[in-house]
Amino acid sequence: LGNKTPVKPKPRFLRVNTLKTTTESVVEELSKIHMVAKDDMVPDMLVLPPGTDLHSHPLVTNGKVFLQGKASCMVAVALCPKPGWKVLDACAAPGNKTVHLAALMNGQGGIIACELNKERAKTLQHTIRRSGANNIQTVNGDFLDIDSNDPSYAEVRAILLDPSCSGSGISTERLDYLLPSHSRDDQDDASTSSRVLKLSAFQKKALSHALSFPSVERVVYSTCSIHQAENEDVVNAVLPLATSLGFELATPFPQWHRRGLPVFEGSEHLLRTDPEDGLEGFFVSLFVRKAAGGDAEE
Ligand code: SAM
Repeated sequence: LGNKTPVKPKPRFLRVNTLKTTTESVVEELSKIHMVAKDDMVPDMLVLPPGTDLHSHPLVTNGKVFLQGKASCMVAVALCPKPGWKVLDACAAPGNKTVHLAALMNGQGGIIACELNKERAKTLQHTIRRSGANNIQTVNGDFLDIDSNDPSYAEVRAILLDPSCSGSGISTERLDYLLPSHSRDDQDDASTSSRVLKLSAFQKKALSHALSFPSVERVVYSTCSIHQAENEDVVNAVLPLATSLGFELATPFPQWHRRGLPVFEGSEHLLRTDPEDGLEGFFVSLFVRKAAGGDAEE
């Protein structure tokens, strides 16, 4: 149709929930009826042929497996929280990345998952129950209203910030589930660009707020947008503040080929995914606070 470049059919990805099972046992079970391969980059991620439908498979309904895309899974892996850490997921519903964090932490330590929207906070609770994680506390409120100097956040070492975005990197049929309806990028060009600028202003505020927590060492800012205004421009706008607080940009998945748009010095640290990679359009950035007297840890 038209002159659009054909995009590769997307393989189906799934994430094994290591809180409930092992990758080996899921591979063994699924390979009885499907072609299954392990992803070469994201741990506990399996790749199945395009079109494989596992929605009602018992492994999915009982929470042993999450139908989560590879790009989405890169986000929590980039944050790399250690078991025992205190971690904040700032904009958490429906909670796929929250429960991925819990799995990466072997269920040890604590996660605070904040979600503004009441209905979506219920979905978040449901996702947490399905995952079996028992180290996640939910907060139904505005991340921007959390006082970063409140003693209950004094030990937060890592923050995942995956805020509302235009969703322009995601196929339309999945948007309803993933994003609030007011976030959908399905309007005309003029209203889309004014909405993207509003989102971008919120994203800059939220990222600046995340960087202000006193003990935070790692902050991941991610979107499922392809717009520069929500991605590189947000990171570039907060860089002076980040630098003044001792953060620098680190390079998540250095082996990945597609980096940020070359619009500022340092944008090669950023990560983008694209339908040309057989993935959805995501953006991932990672800020790491330099350890006293040492270099930023990757
Ligand atoms: N990380 C989630 C996942 O992987 O399942 C997806 C997050 S979605 C892109 C963004 C979420 O942020 C929405 O559920 C939205 O309601 C919530 N949100 C928007 N503004 C917020 C705010 N100021 N404080 C907390 N949550 C907010």
